[in-house]
Amino acid sequence: MKECTKINTCPFPNCDKSYHLLTSIDHFIEDYCNGEKKDDCIRLKLEGHNGGIHVPSNMMPDGLPLPGTHRRDWDEVALEFKKHIE
Ligand code: SF4
Repeated sequence: MKECTKINTCPFPNCDKSYHLLTSIDHFIEDYCNGEKKDDCIRLKLEGHNGGIHVPSNMMPDGLPLPGTHRRDWDEVALEFKKHIE
């Protein structure tokens, strides 16, 4: 099991430590960033898309916003491609 190549620079595993108080966040990191599901990560898929897409900093690996945040400010392009890769 190999960790994601983005783990040191990606905003998700490096998000504010208050989020790490939520066990669900650490489960996401374990499953996606350090684990078997990294190839399913929506962030990774958006970044790897041809031409690259700005990935919102508060997007989790499953494509949802971090708890307590919203997707109002997400770029339309990211939202459009996200629909096709989920
Ligand atoms: S959130 Fe996705 S892109 Fe970021 S480190 Fe985890 S698996 Fe990689």
